[in-house]
Amino acid sequence: MRPPICDFCDRDGRDHPSLEFGLVSFRNRELLEQPSHPKGLLWFCQDHLARASELSHLDSHRALQRMREEGG
Ligand SMILES: [Zn+2]
Repeated sequence: MRPPICDFCDRDGRDHPSLEFGLVSFRNRELLEQPSHPKGLLWFCQDHLARASELSHLDSHRALQRMREEGG
């Protein structure tokens, strides 16, 4: 499994031990190939986890694009 690095802001859980991280599964989970990582799950830090979860019905790239448009 990949270490916790937020897919939106790229903060690394190993550098920010006080941050909470969580995994979100997106619509295109079948298509996301990540060696030794559960399929389709992306890490998000506590600041972006809630919004990512709300957008989990989208493909992951669409969800990330939407979040960037919203300014995080
Ligand atoms: Zn983040």
